[in-house]
Amino acid sequence: MVRTIELNKRQEKILEIVKGNGPITGENIAEQLNLTRATLRPDLAILTMAGFLDARPRVGYFYTGKSGTQLLTENLMKLYVRDFQAVPVVVKEQSTVYEAIVTMFLEDVGTLFVVDDSVCLSGVLSRKDLLRASIGQQDLNTLPVNVIMTRMPNIAVCEKDDLLIDVAKNLLERQIDCVPVIKKTAKGFEVTGRVTKTTISRAFVSLTDDDH
Ligand code: ADP
Repeated sequence: MVRTIELNKRQEKILEIVKGNGPITGENIAEQLNLTRATLRPDLAILTMAGFLDARPRVGYFYTGKSGTQLLTENLMKLYVRDFQAVPVVVKEQSTVYEAIVTMFLEDVGTLFVVDDSVCLSGVLSRKDLLRASIGQQDLNTLPVNVIMTRMPNIAVCEKDDLLIDVAKNLLERQIDCVPVIKKTAKGFEVTGRVTKTTISRAFVSLTDDDH
C-alpha cells in the first residue's frame, strides 16, 4: 500500500500528530483524537505497513520521514522476476513456421522461444517475425523457424533473481515485448519462464494491493 493520495483524513491527522509529537504511544494518539485505541488500530497498521510510521515496543510510533516516492521506490525494489514470471512456450528449431503460428494461437502468447536439441535457448519468435515470413513467397509448411527467428547471442534474457524494474527498462530500451527467464547451464541457457509487458503491468498493479 503506497498510495499516499489515498490516506484518509484520520490517517493524515495521525501522521501530523506523530510528526509533531513522536515517539508517541497509540494510547496518546487516541487521546488527542478523542477516539479509542481500538478504533485507531487499523489506521496505525496501514500507516506502519506503508512505511510512513515505524513502531518500537515500549517507545511508540515515530515518523519515518520517507516521502511517497521513496516508499514507492522501496516497494519497486522488492518486485522480483521469480514472483511474477509466466510459463514459457517453446518450439524446436526444426518446427515449421506454420507449426509456430498454430502454437502461438493455441497457447495464446505473443512470443515463442526456440530451443535447440539440448533444449537450450537458440532463438525468439515474435508475432511480427511470423507475419513477415507469412507475407513472403515461402511455403510455411516446410520453412523451419530457425531461418526467421532472432537468434543467440542477440537475445535479451533475464534471471529469476533479477528485479522487474531492470527487465522493464530492458524491454523499453530494446523495444521488445518479452524476455525469457533463463538458467545458465553447461550446455547453454535453459528457459524457465517468461516476462512480458503484461507481467510488468501485473507487478505494477500489485503495488496497490493492501497486503503487498
Ligand atoms: P512484435 O514483433 O510483435 O512487435 P517484439 O517487439 O517483441 O514483438 O519483437 C520485435 C523484434 O524483436 C522481433 O524480430 C523479435 O524476434 C525480436 N525480439 C523479441 N524478443 C526479443 C528478445 N528477448 N531479445 C532479442 N530480440 C527479441
